[in-house]
Amino acid sequence: MLSLIYVEVILPLPLPGTFTYSVPDEFADYAQPGHRVVVSFGKTQFHTGVIRRIVEKQDHLSRIKPIIDALDLEPLVSEDQFLFYEWIAEYYLCTLGETLQAALPSGFKLSSEAFISLAPNAEPDLYILTEKEEWILRKLEDKDLHINDVRKLTGLEQPIKLIKSLQERGLIQLLEKLKDKYTPKREKRIRLTQPYLQEAQLDELLQQLERRTKQIDALVMYLRDVPVLQDPSQNLLGASKPEMIKEGVSPSSLQTLIKNGVFEEWDEIVDRFGYNSLNIGPLPELSDIQGLKRDQILTAFETQRTVLLKGVTGSGKTEIYMSLIHQVIEQGGRVLYLLPEIALTTQIIGRFRKIFGNRFGIYHSRFSDTERMEVWKKCLKGEFDFIIGVRSAVFLPMTNVELIIVDEEHESSFKQHDPAPRYHARDAAIYLAHQLDAKILLGTATPSLETYTNARSGKYALIELNERFSDQPKPIYQLVDLTDERKRKTIKGSFSSRLLNELQEVIGREKQGILFQNRRGYAPVVMCESCGHTPKCPNCSVSLTYHIYANTLNCHYCGYKESMVETCASCGERSLKTVGLGTEKIEEELSILLPEVRIQRMDLDSTRSKYAYQDIIDRFERREIDVLVGTQMISKGLDFERVELVGIFDADRIIHFPDFRSHERAYQLLTQVGGRAGRKLERGRVIVQTNDPSLKLLTQIQQEDYEGFYHDEMKERHKFRYPPFYRLIQVTIRHKDKQTAYEAADQLSFFLRKQLGERSSPPIEPTISKIRNYYRFQLVIRLEKEGINLPGVREFLKSSRDTLLALQSFKSVRVHFDVDPI
Ligand code: ADP
Ligand code: ZN
Repeated sequence: MLSLIYVEVILPLPLPGTFTYSVPDEFADYAQPGHRVVVSFGKTQFHTGVIRRIVEKQDHLSRIKPIIDALDLEPLVSEDQFLFYEWIAEYYLCTLGETLQAALPSGFKLSSEAFISLAPNAEPDLYILTEKEEWILRKLEDKDLHINDVRKLTGLEQPIKLIKSLQERGLIQLLEKLKDKYTPKREKRIRLTQPYLQEAQLDELLQQLERRTKQIDALVMYLRDVPVLQDPSQNLLGASKPEMIKEGVSPSSLQTLIKNGVFEEWDEIVDRFGYNSLNIGPLPELSDIQGLKRDQILTAFETQRTVLLKGVTGSGKTEIYMSLIHQVIEQGGRVLYLLPEIALTTQIIGRFRKIFGNRFGIYHSRFSDTERMEVWKKCLKGEFDFIIGVRSAVFLPMTNVELIIVDEEHESSFKQHDPAPRYHARDAAIYLAHQLDAKILLGTATPSLETYTNARSGKYALIELNERFSDQPKPIYQLVDLTDERKRKTIKGSFSSRLLNELQEVIGREKQGILFQNRRGYAPVVMCESCGHTPKCPNCSVSLTYHIYANTLNCHYCGYKESMVETCASCGERSLKTVGLGTEKIEEELSILLPEVRIQRMDLDSTRSKYAYQDIIDRFERREIDVLVGTQMISKGLDFERVELVGIFDADRIIHFPDFRSHERAYQLLTQVGGRAGRKLERGRVIVQTNDPSLKLLTQIQQEDYEGFYHDEMKERHKFRYPPFYRLIQVTIRHKDKQTAYEAADQLSFFLRKQLGERSSPPIEPTISKIRNYYRFQLVIRLEKEGINLPGVREFLKSSRDTLLALQSFKSVRVHFDVDPI
C-alpha cells in the first residue's frame, strides 16, 4: 500500500507543538525538514512555517490540510538548530514557534502579516514579467502592499507564488509591519580607466583639456585624493562621486569625463564598517603575558569545556580572542563571537577587518532585515569562517563551530526581556557549546556572580589577566564627597569643584573627558513647587522625563509625549521645577560653566538616526569634541587614546537602585566606564561623585577589589535567597483592570503554592505597576539548585497557567514566565 507523506510544521505562533499537514506530490521534493512551507492555519490564510520532520503514515488522515506551497530548495534550518531551539523553548518556558520567530530574520517569514515593497535596486527590465507581475510592480511604485492587496489586485487566490518569484528575482522585498524599509547605503564611485593610469596618457589628456578648466579641476582633485601616480593600486578603490561634488567639483564636468571614458563609474554598497581590502595586516603580536594566558586557555580547553578569562579593562582580551580565532579558523573550524549590543561598534569591527578582511560576517540588530537574511544565507553556504554578532546570533545556522566566545559575559543586554523567548545568550551559548561539542570562552573584567561562582567551584576554568597591555597604568579612582562640597559651597550645579577643575586641566592639555550619567533627558521628574503635583504618564505608572531640546515631557516606557507647559496642570501656578539629573542637563550646565569646551551628548536621543552613533565616535576620535556626555552607551568597547578623565554622576542612585543585582551592576558599570580612561598615554583618572564616600562598594571599586565585593555580595544573596544560590522564575500577570490582574495573580499563586509551597511568593506589585495601560503583578519562584525536578516544575508551571487562563473570569489575562530574570 502506498504510504502517504505528512509533515510536522512549526508555525511562528505562541502555540505549543507542531502542526501536521499533508504534502501534495508536486511539493514532495521540497517538503524536507528545515524547508519553509506556506500553510493555512485557523482563520489566517497564509502562514510560513518550517518543516520540523516528515512523518509517513500508512493510512489517510482525515481533515488534514495540504501545504499550499514550498518555499525553499535547501533547508534554512538544520537539525542541530532545531535541537537548540527546542532546548530554548523548553528551558525558557515558551513555545517552539516563538523561538523560531525570534531566530529567523523576519523576511523569511512570508506570512499574511507581511507587506511587500519595491526593492531598492530592482531591475525589472532584466526579466520577462507576466502581466500580473508588471501590474504589481507598478502599484508598488506608489505604495507598499499587503499580501491581501496583492490578492485583490491580481485576483489570484494564492498570490504567494507570484510574490516569491518577484522576491527571488530581487524585484521586491518583504517588510514586516512597522519595520523600517531597507535601503542599503550605496554610493557612486568613480576611478580612472585603465589607459589613464599611465603618466604619459594623463599628461596628454591634461593638455587636450587645456581650456576646460572645470574638467581639469576634477582630475586634479581626483589625483590629490587618490594618488594613483605613486600607487596605481589605489585607483581600484576610486573616490566617492558625491564627496567630490561636495568638495566643489562640477557635476557636469564629471559627467563629461565619464562619457569620454576618462573616468568609469560604479555603484558600491558601502560597508558601514569601512572595510577596505587593501589594508589587511598581520595578527597583533601578543605580549608575553597575553601569550601565556592564551596558552593557558588552550591547555584548560583540553580538559574543560568552559573557560572564564577575567582580564582587566585594557588588558588586551580582544587580541587574545583574535589569536584564538585565528588558530581555529586556520584549521578549518568556525567561531561564534558574541558581543553585547552596545559593544559591537565600528571600532571593534574595524580592528577585526584589518586582520581578517571579510572572512567573518556581522550580525547586528541595527542591521536591516535584508542584511540579516543575507548573513543567514551566507552562513548556510559556509561562506564565513566566523561570525561577530549580538545575542540573536546564537540562532544562526553555523556548522562546524569549534569555539564560542562571549565577550563582556556579565552584560545584562545578553538577556532578552520581551518578547519570548526571554533567553540569556550567554547561558544559551553555553548550552549550545555543549550540544555542538565546542569550547566556550567567557571574557570580562567584572564577571557576573553566577559565572564567577562556577569558576571558583571548578565548573569552569579560570584564567586571570590583571595588568593592562604594555604596562599601561590602571586608572585611579577618586571619590568626591558632594555633601562636603555643598557645605563648603564649592559645588556648581551638578559639578563638584574637583571634577570641574580636573576637567578643565585635562582639556587645557588637549586631552579629552567622558562624563557618565545613566539617565537620558534633562530631568526625570518635574514637580510643582506650590502643590507638589508631578506630571505622570497616562499609560504607565511613571513620572514623565523632561527633554529640554524638544521641550517635551516623555515617557521612557511607552513613548508617550506631551509638550512642556509653564503652569502646573493641577494648581495653575507658574511654579514647575525640574528634579534630578539627566544627560541633557549635564550638557547644559557644562556649556555654561566651561563655554569654550566642545561638548557632545551620546545617548539614545542623540543617536536615533542611523549613522549618528558612528558619527559621534568618529568626531571624538578626530578630537573635534572635548567632552562626551553619555549614558551607558559610552561604557563599552570604546577605546579612545586621549581620554584621561572620566566623571561619574549619581553613583549613589546606581548603587541603591531597588533590585537585588544593583550592587553587582554598579560594580560592573563603574569599572567599565572607568576603564575608558587612560588607555594609551598618561594614567587615567576617574572621579566618582557621591553623597556617601564611606560606601564600602565604592572603596572596592576604587581598589579593584573584586574578591572583596564578591564575598560581601554573596553573603547578601545567600541571606535573601537569590541567585546564584537559588534559581528564580518570575511570573508576570497583566491585565487592563488592576483588580482582575491582582485576582488572577492571587489565584495563580494559590495554584502554585499547593505544589511549590513557600517557593512561590504571593502577588507582588512591581515598582512600575502599570506599563502601556496594563497593570502588572508578579510572582517570584525560588528553586533550590539541587534536588529539584526542574522539568517537572516547568510542566507544572505551564499547566497551572493553562488552568488559570481556562477560567472564565481570567480569559483575557496575560501571563508570561521569565526564567533566570535579570
Ligand atoms: P580589553 O578588551 O581587555 O579591554 P583591548 O583588547 O581593547 O583590551 O586592548 C586595549 C588596548 O591595547 C587596545 O588599544 C589594543 O589595541 C591594545 N593592545 C592590546 N594588546 C595588544 C597587542 N598585543 N599588540 C598591540 N596592541 C595591543
Ligand atoms: Zn508611558
